Amino acid sequence: MKIAIYPGTFDPITYGHIDIIERAGEIFDKVIVMVAQNPGKQPLFSNSERVMMIKKVVSKYKNVEVDSYDGLLVEFAKRKKATAIVRGLRAISDFEYEFQMALMNRKLEDNITTVFLMPHEKYTYLNSSLVREIARLGGDVTEFIPPVVRQILSKKIKSLRK
Ligand code: ADP
Repeated sequence: MKIAIYPGTFDPITYGHIDIIERAGEIFDKVIVMVAQNPGKQPLFSNSERVMMIKKVVSKYKNVEVDSYDGLLVEFAKRKKATAIVRGLRAISDFEYEFQMALMNRKLEDNITTVFLMPHEKYTYLNSSLVREIARLGGDVTEFIPPVVRQILSKKIKSLRK
């Protein structure tokens, strides 16, 4: 059984992430979406909120699981018996950072290969921080995130204003 980990911050999950999950689900027997504690980012949503939102939107894919982990990615992958890490590549601007991470993860664990998938081009400009910013300023994010995520995001923004 070929298992892949799709790690990320997912703050919140967007249609771009979902596009990558769908593609990975067609290639691998099982995809585990791993919500990471990225020390370089201050997420809007807690780990459990991000896991809950992802679970809601991926429940229709039978071979996709969701988990969170704040340790080393390759350790999580080994523990889950995964042989691949999936990352999305939107543009050249993603490349340098992703290249470095992929090579470092390979250095740490030679048996785990990073695989890059390209989303549909309509998602190449999409990222979670833009979605958060647009929503915070009252803009329409219908095209970028599923309805259930939109509801939770708008509640979160309202609660922060109180
Ligand atoms: P991280 O903080 O690890 O970059 P993100 O949640 O921003 O976490 O992204 C997780 C993964 O999903 C990364 O590989 C990123 O390139 C990819 N990704 C993010 N947005 C998109 C998108 N719109 N289309 C395709 N891949 C995306």
